[in-house]
Amino acid sequence: MTNATLYIVATPIGNLEDMTCRAVRILGEVDLIAAEDTRHSLKLLNHFGISKPMTSYFDHNQQFKGERILNALRLGKSVALISDAGTPCISDPGFQLVRDAVAEKINVVAVPGACAAITALSASGLPTDIFSFAGFPPSKKGKRRTFLAGMNSLPGTLVLYEAPHRLLETLSDIREMLGERLVIVARELTKMFEECIRGNVSEVMEVISQGSVRGEVVILIASGEVALEEPEVLMNVIQGLMSDGTLSIRDISKQAALIAGVSRSEAYAEVLKLRNDFVTEGS
Ligand code: SAM
Repeated sequence: MTNATLYIVATPIGNLEDMTCRAVRILGEVDLIAAEDTRHSLKLLNHFGISKPMTSYFDHNQQFKGERILNALRLGKSVALISDAGTPCISDPGFQLVRDAVAEKINVVAVPGACAAITALSASGLPTDIFSFAGFPPSKKGKRRTFLAGMNSLPGTLVLYEAPHRLLETLSDIREMLGERLVIVARELTKMFEECIRGNVSEVMEVISQGSVRGEVVILIASGEVALEEPEVLMNVIQGLMSDGTLSIRDISKQAALIAGVSRSEAYAEVLKLRNDFVTEGS
């Protein structure tokens, strides 16, 4: 590969089967791989039998390493940027490098794949037509509260990343600044102990405080409007839960009622209706 191109290559967020064929091909073809942590990424590359020159590119060497990577590109080399997991530039290093490459009219190509925010959102059962991704909330309480207060008027579902050891305090601030919203904590996505904890903020906090939450988490917060009795929201939520394929009608009704803010009997009636439609369509 000789054309100067910067490839932004997504890698799995826990399940190696989520590596795309294209990512394997591109990583095997480029002249240089820039990785957030070369030792960490070497395991991934070894798994796929990829052996290429590597360089590190992380938060604290961005400026210096960015220039070296740009130099390689200026010389006509192709470079792939990967992060420890998921899509580079999404709460991971890369934005500055892409911006500089774009400014120099260097070809930038995204090779899409896993991203924890989108993975969590797609399985959340919360509205996906409008959503805001806001990355990690600040770690200091005061700044975090101000940050959350700024999210109050955003329409749609709010998606945040958080470290497991800060999860409870962040949920507590969410309750305080955004109210008793419906939230979903999606943890260990694509991994063996993957789970989604759903409920209003207090309910989710209670579940979480009963054990220690390990692993990585995404927090999804329903917009203040989701609690309105909107038939469309209820239907979307039920369809999301039904597509899971493992939940009983009773569990679907219970969870849908909670998420959409309607009574259980209303949710149950809608589940039966949707199930009948489904059976009729399929027959
Ligand atoms: N660039 C990555 C992406 O595309 O998702 C995100 C990198 S960011 C440094 C890491 C955060 O992503 C974690 O703290 C967690 O909030 C979220 N995350 C990554 N993998 C996850 C997983 N398997 N399950 C849940 N959340 C995950």
